[in-house]
Amino acid sequence: MELTPMMRQYLAAKEQHPDEILFFRLGDFYEMFFDDAKLAAKELGLTLTSRSGDAEKNPMCGIPYHAAESYITKLINKGYKVAIAEQIGDPKAPGLTKREVIKIITPGTILSESALTSAQNNYIALLYEAGENVILAGADISTGECFYGVYSGQDRTQMLYDELYRLAMPELVVIGELSFNEELLAFIELRLPRCSFTHREKPAEQPELRLSQHFPRELWPQENEAKEGLASLLDYLHETVKNDLTNLNRLTKLDVSSNLVLDTYTLRNLEVTRNLRDGGKSNTLLDVLDYTETAMGSRLLKRWLEAPLRSIAEIDRRFDAVEELSEGFTLRESVRSSLKRIYDFERLLTRAEVGTANARDMVALKLSFRALPEIKEALKDTKAELLRHAYENIEVYKNLEELLEKAIVDEPGITLRDGGIIKEGYNSELDEYRAIARDSKKLLQEMEEREKEATGIKTLKIGYNKVFGYYIEVRNSGKDMVPEHYIRKQTLANAERFITEELKNFETKILGAQEKIVNIEYQLFTEVRETVAAELTSIQKTAHEIAVLDVLASLAEAAASNNYVRPRLMDNGEIRIKDGRHPLVERILTQDLFVPNDAVLNHGDTEIMLITGPNMAGKSTYMRQTALLTLMAQAGSFVPAREAVVSPVDRIFTRIGASDDLVSGQSTFMVEMNEVAQILKYATKNSLVILDEIGRGTSTFDGMSIARAVVEHIRDHIHAKTMFATHYHELTDLEGGHVKNYCVAVRERNGKVLFLRRIIEGSADKSYGIHVARLAGLPNSVTQRAEKILEALEADSVNTVPEKKAKAVPEPKADMGMGSLFADTLREDLMAYDVMTMTPLEAMNALYKLQQQA
Ligand code: ADP
Repeated sequence: MELTPMMRQYLAAKEQHPDEILFFRLGDFYEMFFDDAKLAAKELGLTLTSRSGDAEKNPMCGIPYHAAESYITKLINKGYKVAIAEQIGDPKAPGLTKREVIKIITPGTILSESALTSAQNNYIALLYEAGENVILAGADISTGECFYGVYSGQDRTQMLYDELYRLAMPELVVIGELSFNEELLAFIELRLPRCSFTHREKPAEQPELRLSQHFPRELWPQENEAKEGLASLLDYLHETVKNDLTNLNRLTKLDVSSNLVLDTYTLRNLEVTRNLRDGGKSNTLLDVLDYTETAMGSRLLKRWLEAPLRSIAEIDRRFDAVEELSEGFTLRESVRSSLKRIYDFERLLTRAEVGTANARDMVALKLSFRALPEIKEALKDTKAELLRHAYENIEVYKNLEELLEKAIVDEPGITLRDGGIIKEGYNSELDEYRAIARDSKKLLQEMEEREKEATGIKTLKIGYNKVFGYYIEVRNSGKDMVPEHYIRKQTLANAERFITEELKNFETKILGAQEKIVNIEYQLFTEVRETVAAELTSIQKTAHEIAVLDVLASLAEAAASNNYVRPRLMDNGEIRIKDGRHPLVERILTQDLFVPNDAVLNHGDTEIMLITGPNMAGKSTYMRQTALLTLMAQAGSFVPAREAVVSPVDRIFTRIGASDDLVSGQSTFMVEMNEVAQILKYATKNSLVILDEIGRGTSTFDGMSIARAVVEHIRDHIHAKTMFATHYHELTDLEGGHVKNYCVAVRERNGKVLFLRRIIEGSADKSYGIHVARLAGLPNSVTQRAEKILEALEADSVNTVPEKKAKAVPEPKADMGMGSLFADTLREDLMAYDVMTMTPLEAMNALYKLQQQA
């Protein structure tokens, strides 16, 4: 096939960008060819065409350039990358127009407003393995922050995955080969299925040079590998965004030692920022606490909750500010109502800096600037250190605000190429051309009147269209009266269009003026945008203070409207909660119905609370509640309780509820044991450990033995603050020393059982499984029969197994002694059921089968 020069140009560009979908600019369209065209047609629902008329062989498809953004966003959201090749130079010049890829858009580097969720960061992360160390480098180019972490030692990948889960980045760049590649892929597939991969062969060649373009030397990583990793990420960003990216100027080191570590399981189980149902925000802790008014604030709140603090001094600083804002109603209201008027200026700034901000962005910035003096004024007399800090560091940008006010109209359109964005009176040259354009309307009207009179054609009018420019239109009825000097241009069904010498001259003048106007406006706008971008660093700082203030005000609002208290911080390991409530469940039930509960750990001897009680009694709610309150406190939030004493913990571990890891091909029991193994390996004396019904996924005796051994191990070796819920009553004889029994209070009256949801000292003596079955709607005949069976079994087990023996290490065989009521098989069948893990329907079927056999 003979290639046209244009196709040769295309193929050369495509060769450079094999991994991206190439958008190739041809006039007013972006065209895609061959495989790119097929893919785009499928993903975007476009029709394939062809230049040669053979869409099978040489498929192509196109989209109008002005609509490109939404198509690009769609492709990016599906995990693709897009390279944009633009026409460079004058398209009217003779010969082939030059074209060049001017930027690449990827899931981690997209900046268009429609693609970004305001309440979430859009991170990109990079992994680089060098010897013993794994480097994680990351950035959010939409807000300008960068970070890195160095991971080594046995649990390095575990910590890495926890961090990746928090970041939930849509794009991960991998340098070279990773020794744990398969494991990583499995993790990403399971936990972050929307993340796409980018591979690069080698790390950055001149890391220090690259770093020096972005960060002051004192922020640089110590380790050479970390420098390389970070610089590699910056290299990649420069190559894709093709901009100097000066907004990337903040760098932090990820350092878990100063934070409360929350692993992936715990973040998920406690539904801190993402719910288990669909990964969304509804019914999460974040949802309860989020009263933020700005996008910057809501992003920061999410971060505070995912990485709470450990230092008492730092937490107290947050408490002081939250307290002052929650007690001072007027202060809080005036801060929050001013914050309401602030737009996402972190991202506005980035757009200004990379040159994509439009006039509306500038208006948003102006309105945001305008709210700043009010915020400062509101904070003037505050006392808390963080509020003082905000007061002193929030700058007021009077000059920029005035510039924007003077220069940009109040309600500009989105496009910059149509004019109408610069205010009257800002620039005299512009005003002059505008006067011409404006007067022209009047002149046109006058001309129309004149022509009507001169020709006597009443229906004559002057119009405009893009193809023919200005014309005089005469309906067919007036055709005979058209004067000689009219030149015919176009014939319509019921009218004819003409031009005249005068009209032509007029057109040249007017169109010239309009073009001038658009050009001058664009030029002026770019200057204004650059003036704003020049203040980038300082405005970024203000943006950060606004975010912090917003989060503090949000926590204060949550505290005031949900009746939370300020916890008292201690460093002796104790956690003591009086009348604690579950922040989410209390919201669903309303406060009157929710039964508050106390929790006491490490006050006195108790390190382990062993909680027995029937299903549905409220055990897991209670334990989650304790974990959530501890987490909230360490994030700087007040807590739902009457009183709380919290000693900051280093980690919170949870093993709760059904796992959904079956995708990875492991059995539920295997997954559960994996999680328990992790906990036993990494928990310390300062950790909070929540274990709910471990050992359910196996036979009763296996499960019970494992549960018991785990409690003993924690008691004797780890000494972590532990809450352990179980329905194995046999474990209650572990009480003593560091272990204390608790149970859920139950009231029985006339054979009816009422769970009081109150956790009290002591141990439960019954499992009430049949009661729960009744609640679930099993027919009376079945539950009555079940009660009989249970009675018989209980009598039987007391007869055959001495109390004491059952409580010590239970011997499976001992309990298998045959009773008199059932034939062997019936009894075996019954014992094989794990009632606690059955659904009501399964229980019903099982009972039915037993009944049939009896
Ligand atoms: P368990 O872990 O013992 O099986 P759950 O904690 O799952 O029980 O609680 C069972 C139900 O009881 C939940 O639907 C929950 O809404 C309700 N519940 C739990 N704790 C309380 C409480 N303190 N006050 C009111 N309702 C509660």
